[in-house]
Amino acid sequence: MSILPIVTYNDPILREKTKEVKSRTEFIDRFVEDLIETMYHSNGLGLAAPQVGSSHRIFVFDPDPVLEDDEEKFGLIVCINPKIIEQSSHQISMDEGCLSIPDVNDTVKRAEDITLHYLDEHFVQHTRDFTGWPARIILHEYDHLDGILFIDHLSSFRRRMHKSQLNAIEAGEAEASYPIRPKKHST
Ligand SMILES: [Zn+2]
Repeated sequence: MSILPIVTYNDPILREKTKEVKSRTEFIDRFVEDLIETMYHSNGLGLAAPQVGSSHRIFVFDPDPVLEDDEEKFGLIVCINPKIIEQSSHQISMDEGCLSIPDVNDTVKRAEDITLHYLDEHFVQHTRDFTGWPARIILHEYDHLDGILFIDHLSSFRRRMHKSQLNAIEAGEAEASYPIRPKKHST
């Protein structure tokens, strides 16, 4: 297994739509292992393939670090070719950050409950309901698979508040406690 560098927010790969995984291969198995190791190494709650420069429709997450003691635990969940088949019209605001956008956090409003269809790392199908934190992490990672970042959900006013940090990331000057792959804008 290896830790992959995480691409930062101005990398065009983060804006591309991912492609469905056609079949289980050794390459996919290894890629999923690397994604998992990279997520834990970066202390992330979730990580999507585009964040390590891949266009596979895969994300991994583990919400347990942010769950209360009395809440149901989930552990690691691998989602291959995920599809949100239902989401509640009731939305809640929660604070989000992103490993691809170091040191930027803000509040985003999203559905509180969702139903997700996905294949796990063994390519076994699941349809499962999620609420609260797990639902929030899934919606964030799912967006990544469609080239959407959490800052896209912010008002232009809120985005302006983060402009200096976003510019620093774009200039390749961002720092993180995990390996990142800054892409400098060609001038
Ligand atoms: Zn993210």
